[in-house]
Amino acid sequence: MEIKIHRGTHQIGGCITEIKTQSARIIIDIGAELPTAERAEGAPPQIDGLTCGDPTCDGVFITHYHGDHIGMYGAVLPTIPIYMGAAAREIYAVVQRAADREPEPARPVEDFIPFEAGRPIFIKDIKITPFLIDHSAFDAYMFLIEAEGKRVLHTGDFRMHGARGRKMPAVFEKYAKNIDVLIIEGTMMSRRNEKQITEHELGAAARGILREHKSVFVLCSSTNIDTIAEFYSAAIAEERMFLVCEERYQLEILRIVSAASRSAFYDFNRRKIYVYGKNLHTTMAERGFCFIGRANAVTRRAMESFADNVLIYSMWRGYLDATSAAYDGYKRKFVENAIANGSKLQYLHTSGHADIDQIRQVCGVTGAKTIIPVHSEFPEAFCDLGLKGEVLVLRDGECVTV
Ligand SMILES: [Zn+2]
Ligand SMILES: [Zn+2]
Repeated sequence: MEIKIHRGTHQIGGCITEIKTQSARIIIDIGAELPTAERAEGAPPQIDGLTCGDPTCDGVFITHYHGDHIGMYGAVLPTIPIYMGAAAREIYAVVQRAADREPEPARPVEDFIPFEAGRPIFIKDIKITPFLIDHSAFDAYMFLIEAEGKRVLHTGDFRMHGARGRKMPAVFEKYAKNIDVLIIEGTMMSRRNEKQITEHELGAAARGILREHKSVFVLCSSTNIDTIAEFYSAAIAEERMFLVCEERYQLEILRIVSAASRSAFYDFNRRKIYVYGKNLHTTMAERGFCFIGRANAVTRRAMESFADNVLIYSMWRGYLDATSAAYDGYKRKFVENAIANGSKLQYLHTSGHADIDQIRQVCGVTGAKTIIPVHSEFPEAFCDLGLKGEVLVLRDGECVTV
């Protein structure tokens, strides 16, 4: 079996991994590179048989809907099937419609083939089984790939401190032991001093804030479902408070989640959620609200109508940091303006990525003989973790036979 990381050995995002046997060739993730100060958007990758030439690839498997894992799907040759989790596919379709991309990608997201957790897919001599994993994207997966007598586990992005976190050790224990090659994300290798709280702790802090304040605005990603579910639960813990979505597509996403999950935590039908409009102002003032929005003019104007408000920044701090590669000047200006207008700013966020102890734990429980770090600016740091398996730091495009 051959493994090639086309992209992502020394960067966060833009991930593309290839696994090839005597008869089959599959790709895991087809990500766009995250925009940086120097680069607005990376170019589509040129990979023979996948994005150019005659199609020789048997399928593309998407771990989750974040752009750095799926953003370049439009470059995949049209006859190659793309596989994705069923609910993730629905959410991604809504996000794509809302983004109103010009020109529209030739392949509609609805054409992706949905898969289910625990149900293997056979691609010639490769057996690939998706398992749900804890991440800041809903319906995110890791993949167990079995072929030619080898077991390869691709974690995708993961963590152990979200809503699904407590279940994760048992999932690895049951399905992902005796791994020959572990392809594992290492985002936090370059953010080691960031201390993470659990989503549950975030929820407890949110309840504290919503108990004290009636006008609460939250800046967070529209697809960070665990965090939104915590704010929703915090709002409905108050007698009359309700959730307001800045845009209709946000509500559509939450409805998909409610329909896809049997868990009460992801049931967004427990109290009616409203889509923002000025007509809601009186009700918002009377009952108290938690507004889920983005750093844009709609949210800014809504905030101006509720002078005594709290702004919760629930995103990665790095976006506000001018020295960070992913610095977002627009977000920073938004936050600064809000403070200047009297908003009380609170920072309440937790990462979608595994910290060092969680990475160690997964390397240990899987018994991985070989460990290939990806999605990391500092993959060499894996060598210092005292892991039992051999760490293999690859370069983009380098091929290893296992
Ligand atoms: Zn990612
Ligand atoms: Zn992700």
